[in-house]
Amino acid sequence: MPLRLGAFVHRRLIAPGAFAAASLMLAIPASAASFSPGAPGIGDPYYPDYGNGGYDVSHYDLRLKYQPATDELEGTATLLARTTQDLSRFDLDFLLDVSEVRVNGTKASFTTSGEHELEVTPKSPLAKGTSVTVVVRYSGVPSSKQAYGFTSWHRTADGGVGANEPEAAWWWFPSNDHPLDKATYDVSVLVPDGSQAISNGTLQSTSSRLGWTRWNWRSDKPQATYLATLAVGRFDITTGTTDGGIPVVNAYSKDLGANYGAARASVERTGEIADWLSGWFGPYPFDALGGYVPNTNTGYALETQTRPFYSPRQFANGSNTSVVVHELAHQWYGDLVSVHGWKDIWINEGFARYAQWLWSEHEDEGTAQELADYVYASHPADDTFWTVRPGDPGPENQFDIAVYDRGALALQALRNEIGDEAFFAVLKGWPQKYAYGNASVADFQRYAEEVSGQPLAALFDTWLFQPSKPGAPAARGAAIARAAEAPVQPKSWKKIAATNDVHGG
Ligand SMILES: [Zn+2]
Repeated sequence: MPLRLGAFVHRRLIAPGAFAAASLMLAIPASAASFSPGAPGIGDPYYPDYGNGGYDVSHYDLRLKYQPATDELEGTATLLARTTQDLSRFDLDFLLDVSEVRVNGTKASFTTSGEHELEVTPKSPLAKGTSVTVVVRYSGVPSSKQAYGFTSWHRTADGGVGANEPEAAWWWFPSNDHPLDKATYDVSVLVPDGSQAISNGTLQSTSSRLGWTRWNWRSDKPQATYLATLAVGRFDITTGTTDGGIPVVNAYSKDLGANYGAARASVERTGEIADWLSGWFGPYPFDALGGYVPNTNTGYALETQTRPFYSPRQFANGSNTSVVVHELAHQWYGDLVSVHGWKDIWINEGFARYAQWLWSEHEDEGTAQELADYVYASHPADDTFWTVRPGDPGPENQFDIAVYDRGALALQALRNEIGDEAFFAVLKGWPQKYAYGNASVADFQRYAEEVSGQPLAALFDTWLFQPSKPGAPAARGAAIARAAEAPVQPKSWKKIAATNDVHGG
């Protein structure tokens, strides 16, 4: 996503030990002495309670009904998973009201704990390495639920939208909410006739009966939980096909007012832009494509898989293809290859920002080199911009502008160091190497060294990991800002910066 300027930043560093200690005191049946509760978090130091331990989900089947007038959501989630330890109990991340949980067909007991944990205790403990089917029946009003004092469910005049990073799933389906556990999805949503339900992937079918219409969406490639989205509202839907043969489905709220034209003039370029990006990053990795613009009062956009979410405000000053480039670049850098931990956010944002720079060059509005020079020159050494380390920014700075601009600057430094041929081979090779999986900043450095045949530890340290502005010798060495006079602002600068304008409302 484009960063959150002046955003409310979600803070939730909770000592994971507190839960672990409580868990150990629970009585465990003698016959199941080796069986223990799954951890309440998957082990990400930025967000200790995100995701869960002890199992891996392969598929989510979400069969839902949503009433736009009241924001009431109800339904059944069926999760197919595999245990990774002997489990006496396991957690899901979820906020809505649960009425029943079944594990392998049998009723399980459940309770809630922490900010967003649903603790499930199956009747019989689960042995490591076995398949498990979990059915959760639930209902609730997503906009009424908060964790850590915020909600990621955006109520609109005509419905609601679940889209946020790093967390959105808690408000609409129970999950193992971390990018390390990707899965396929079938999302089926019943909404009143005249409303539409938009989600990821391919629209398999719709069917109407007694005033309600069911929308059946399928994502058959692995997808991180935060990249799953649901929007219900009154949309105009457009369809098409890219030159590469990928079907495109876009959706625009009928209620975008003066932003309607600019939104549509931007997002309708999705197919063209995805084809252009595939020239840099390799074949488009999914079988569906599109974008949607609901009438939220949010300010950000998000790379929800195959179908990015855009806020109307992104188009308040006219069309903005740069934000479309950013979110579609994430389909390779973020979605196809996802972060291993949230500290690896540069793998997403540095590259999506760099794609905007390549688009600027394509549009004759300033080259990537000019944009890099401008970033370097426009932040003096005492600017706090340089205190953020894009390679490991900390959760409080995960979406700081430095992750984007300093992050893209680091890529230009890398390009100048290893040359265009190796650099663009890396850009195209990386999504294939870790396709449908996860990778870290360290993995990227290793891969760039492998492809270029050059040691790059010093370069990565200077441009991504030092909490200070790279000095003149380092800049000279990486061919950044070599001209004697201060660089002029590239023409695309303001349009790219408009991508940053988020939250605030
Ligand atoms: Zn982004």
